Amino acid sequence: MSVKINDKLGRPLHDLRISVTDRCNFRCSYCMPQEIFGRDYQFLDRSELLNFEEIERLVRIFAGHGVKKIRLTGGEPLLRRDLEKLVEKLAGMPGLELTLTTNGGLLAERAQALKEAGLNRVTVSLDSLDDEIFASMNGVDFPVEKVLEGIEAAKVVGLAPIKVNMVVRRGVNEQSVVPMARHFRGTGIILRFIEYMDVGTSNGWCLDDVVPAFEIIKRIDAQMPIKPLESNYQGEVARRWQYRDGSGEIGMIASVTQPFCGDCTRARLSADGFLYTCLFATQGNDLKKLLRGGASDGKISDAVASIWKARTDRYSEIRSSETTDLPKVEMSYIGG
Ligand code: SAM
Ligand code: SF4
Ligand code: SF4
Repeated sequence: MSVKINDKLGRPLHDLRISVTDRCNFRCSYCMPQEIFGRDYQFLDRSELLNFEEIERLVRIFAGHGVKKIRLTGGEPLLRRDLEKLVEKLAGMPGLELTLTTNGGLLAERAQALKEAGLNRVTVSLDSLDDEIFASMNGVDFPVEKVLEGIEAAKVVGLAPIKVNMVVRRGVNEQSVVPMARHFRGTGIILRFIEYMDVGTSNGWCLDDVVPAFEIIKRIDAQMPIKPLESNYQGEVARRWQYRDGSGEIGMIASVTQPFCGDCTRARLSADGFLYTCLFATQGNDLKKLLRGGASDGKISDAVASIWKARTDRYSEIRSSETTDLPKVEMSYIGG
């Protein structure tokens, strides 16, 4: 039985994002800059990662508190060995929507197996169609073509509707906005533009690097007229826009200029089993200690409920020059 719980600001727990690894094969400048995440960076040891049985157990407990949507993320989730086995375990639980966010680098060869394991949808990150710009952002010279092949494979096997995430950075890939929109228009794939955020402490974020959503909308509208659409559901992070000629929709994730904390129903579980109630949190709650310390399901369930019920996070609404410098956890660790 599932019993809904609300936080202190009345927001229900609805989504759980699970980071399955803090490692990545990319070094995106806005997430894991090479200078910090280089050879000497200490990633989590395998023994520290939650195993699939532990994740499954937690998902059951979260489902008991009203979670309906699970997103597997990272780091790069497709680097986690045998991820399909986890997908299979979670897909066996009734009433859960199961999605995955990936950089797409390994998707072409994994899409079929993920679909067969029971994954419902994928979101693929891609910041430009221009190889030079994309390489400058992914930090490892990764070619655009390979990501496009991954998206195509996901489409062929039916991991739909596919979403594509594009982080827009001033002076880096803003010129890719219109070509990306043109490329995905009419394909059924939903392109979502994400304002560059001050997650973690290593990307050197500053407000001048953010291209506000209204500017992105203006650029697209000037070439391919668009109009706003109603949200699909309460808590949807992307504001929806539709091409006026009916050739599809795009989304704007304007977490900097139009924060949506009031509707934020997402909890995040790090690969080593810490529960975070905000993407910009400085501290998490150690669920692995409970799992490995022999706590009963009831005890873990009570812990999750009391953490969620005490939640007051609204970072994006109160962002300022002071909050930006807080020792926030990294996006690659907590999961996007
Ligand atoms: N590695 C996978 C990927 O890139 O899709 C999953 C993890 S990644 C942390 C999840 C999402 O966070 C990606 O779509 C990525 O573009 C986005 N992201 C990472 N750093 C960001 C930042 N500083 N601002 C906005 N979005 C960011
Ligand atoms: Fe890796 Fe994703 Fe972060 Fe890029 S955004 S470095 S692909 S975790
Ligand atoms: Fe949710 Fe925190 Fe983002 Fe606000 S800042 S929308 S509370 S994750």
